[in-house]
Amino acid sequence: MTRRPPRAFVAGWMHETNTFSPIPTSRESFQAASYRPEPGVFAPPAHIDTLGYGHLARLCQQAGIELHAGLFAHTGPSAAMGARDHAAMRAEILAGLQRAMPVDQVYLFMHGAQIAQGCDDVEGDLLAAVRAVVGPGVPVAVLLDLHANITPAMLCHASFCVGCLEYPHTDYEDRARHVFGLVQRLRDGQIRPHTQAWRIPLVGIYRTIDGPMKAFVERLRTAHEAPGVLSVSAFHGFPLGDTPHTGAMLVLVSDGESAATAALGSTLAQDFIDTVLRIPAPPGLDAALDDALAGDEGPVVLADSGDNPGGGAAGDSTFVLEALLQRGVRNAAFGLLWDPVAADFAHRAGEGATLELRLGGKVSALSGRPLDVRAEVLCVRDDARQAWFAQGEPRARLGRSAALRVQGVDVIVNSERQQVFDPRCFTEHGVDPAARRLVVVKGSTHFVNGFAPLARRIVYCASPGSLSLDPSLFDYRRIRRPLYPLDPGYTPVAEPMVIHVGDRAGAP
Ligand SMILES: [Zn+2]
Repeated sequence: MTRRPPRAFVAGWMHETNTFSPIPTSRESFQAASYRPEPGVFAPPAHIDTLGYGHLARLCQQAGIELHAGLFAHTGPSAAMGARDHAAMRAEILAGLQRAMPVDQVYLFMHGAQIAQGCDDVEGDLLAAVRAVVGPGVPVAVLLDLHANITPAMLCHASFCVGCLEYPHTDYEDRARHVFGLVQRLRDGQIRPHTQAWRIPLVGIYRTIDGPMKAFVERLRTAHEAPGVLSVSAFHGFPLGDTPHTGAMLVLVSDGESAATAALGSTLAQDFIDTVLRIPAPPGLDAALDDALAGDEGPVVLADSGDNPGGGAAGDSTFVLEALLQRGVRNAAFGLLWDPVAADFAHRAGEGATLELRLGGKVSALSGRPLDVRAEVLCVRDDARQAWFAQGEPRARLGRSAALRVQGVDVIVNSERQQVFDPRCFTEHGVDPAARRLVVVKGSTHFVNGFAPLARRIVYCASPGSLSLDPSLFDYRRIRRPLYPLDPGYTPVAEPMVIHVGDRAGAP
């Protein structure tokens, strides 16, 4: 009898849920970045070959592992999905796993802050169900976003909970390779993974490309080399999901249990807190604009963080644009303003036309006022795209889009709501951000990879909006307190988690 090749099941379901978002979420929300492979056929198509998914699939195939793919579905951040659609997507993934059985290894791609109505912990719930299908001896790895809120169920049922280390998330492929290596070593009986975790009672958005967090990530990478350490992840948490699990977490996976790795994890957990406490708060709108407009040299790129669709905001807020028009700013570019009606009107009017428009400010009170403007249509497109993290091919469709000149500001409006990653958002419409005095992007950090090469300076603005960086603006009801910085005067202290290891793969 010939021995069958090892068999892997791979699936993905990724949604960062913002319980304060005005944007609803349904099964249809995932359509644009969904993939339902035919049984026995698997080649990740370009539109979902991202977030480490295609890379992991290729690693499996190169290693001669028989790949059985289930649903892969990804959508941008928005509100919690309804219970019926949650149950349907959960069942679809589990049905794919059942068809693939018996499997020797499981890889899940999930965000780690997904909430459905009636389920606070979509990831932990799915991992428990997957574990129940495959049994205790099969490696189950989950690759998560750095902004994951980690739960006890996730840590209990996954053999490996691994997150990307960088924000912008430019290291998904590295971490996919890391996870793949861990799973092979566990399958071959070379390691006995033991997961330890420390709850870090703070929430916030911390980029890793500069300042104290950059040095901390270097220390995390170094920690991977310590004896007995298999993997370390520092999850920043996602502050706009109102659940008891919301907050940061340090997760260390060691080979067996040892006092040395426990001490290292504890040290890194305190280091994580000390690092966050050293990060200065970003300026508000007026101070950020004063800073951005100081001096004559450009381009200065200003991040409209409070309305970042990449965190569940609408992307149609007008606070920054209104301030630019009031100040009479010229030679500026602004995008992406999510306004399908304005984009449609611009297409109907045609390039070169001038029209009176009511721009933005439509979705909720946190979108600000709509602006009644006179706009010249510079360019209209149906086929413009940008590249996620400004890496690789441009796969993200902007939808129906247009460049509009409003006083001295060229505004890019579009119909497919998304954050700005890539200067193509502007250049595809004939607007060269490198030649502008000021460029405003709706985003928090993911734009940096694409814009740092052209920006003289980047100014991060704590602008108003549904992704405000000030968590005290939100009506939290379920989040665990005390929590930094929600509770003035509170100094966070790392708290070891108790994880039940009895049913985890590799446990004695
Ligand atoms: Zn993230």
